[in-house]
Amino acid sequence: MMISNSFGLEAKAQNFIHIKTLSDLSAFDSIDNKRLLILGAGTNVILGDYFNGTVVEVCFNDIEINDDYISVGAGVDWADLIEYCLINKLYGIENLTHIPGSVGAAPVQNIGAYGVEISSFINSIECFNLKTKRLETLNNDQCEFKYRDSIFKLKDFVILKVNFIFNESFKPILSYPALSNFLKDNAIDASSITPRMLSESVKEIRNSKLPDPKITPNVGSIFKNPIVRTNDFDHAFLDGHRWDQGDEYTKLSSARLIELIKSDLSIPDTLQFYEHHSLVLINNGSASFDEVINLLNQIKSKIYEKFNIELEIEPEIISS
Ligand SMILES: Cc1cc2nc3c(=O)[nH]c(=O)nc-3n(C[C@H](O)[C@H](O)[C@H](O)COP(=O)(O)OP(=O)(O)OC[C@H]3O[C@@H](n4cnc5c(N)ncnc54)[C@H](O)[C@@H]3O)c2cc1C
Repeated sequence: MMISNSFGLEAKAQNFIHIKTLSDLSAFDSIDNKRLLILGAGTNVILGDYFNGTVVEVCFNDIEINDDYISVGAGVDWADLIEYCLINKLYGIENLTHIPGSVGAAPVQNIGAYGVEISSFINSIECFNLKTKRLETLNNDQCEFKYRDSIFKLKDFVILKVNFIFNESFKPILSYPALSNFLKDNAIDASSITPRMLSESVKEIRNSKLPDPKITPNVGSIFKNPIVRTNDFDHAFLDGHRWDQGDEYTKLSSARLIELIKSDLSIPDTLQFYEHHSLVLINNGSASFDEVINLLNQIKSKIYEKFNIELEIEPEIISS
């Protein structure tokens, strides 16, 4: 059976299971954990031709309001949660509008955009521990959230529900340069911006910079932005493309680093960088897994050779 993924790579899997109720979790009793691929919408994975194991899809699709938090099923589409929050006057995640994917995958790489990360709104996560075969609820600290990272990358847990606490009042975060420039250019006054206006603005910025994966196959940013010790490098060549993180660390723009070595790359006809964003790689329709990995390795090694900076691939690579 084919595995759907936004990069448009032709990938098949031996087996699929769908978790619709807690009793479906008994399927894990007889499955080898090492040959499991938990998948949401497939917008952050690069897949080999054949996954010799079981693809797991969590189909919990409810949003429930409890006394202390909003509990959201892993299968809920991220865009639906954004809309739910806008309608129900729950504030904080407007800057994360238009990130494709499912709610269950959002904590895995601690999705972030325009100065906001989802970890700030997660109270706890209900999951199935694949090692102990038991249900567990991890609180925010136990999730070990960092920049594009969390404990879920270890693959010991199937996320079933994410429990959020959103803000009760609207305190927009507008300082991220691309966002503040957009608001200025469009004469949108920070003091009168509404949650809907902020969400729509983010959507407009993203549409101008990122290709729609439903039309143009891609997985968003192909590399994380590296965070380096400020004093370890002379970063003058990245002026305007680096952001002070405080605590002696600086985040560098991977897009800019790629632009600086692009002419040294040998890019197959099947792949290309998106014209408005060098961090986004596009599958022209018939790219193979090997071509993608080869290009990513080329980029990594050229940037390391030239600038002594190590890039980390953002999507998960699943070779078999
Ligand atoms: C155009 C575009 C723009 C993007 N912009 C951003 C952005 O601004 N910021 C950002 O952070 N990301 C961005 N992304 C990446 C992607 O949208 C997010 O990582 C998203 O959360 C992935 O959701 P998904 O359901 O497609 O996950 P998948 O690709 O299906 O899975 C991603 C990872 O999560 C794991 N996973 C999925 N579901 C579960 C579960 N229930 N339990 C345990 N593990 C699970 C998978 O095993 C895999 O390791 C972008 C992608 C695209 C294509």
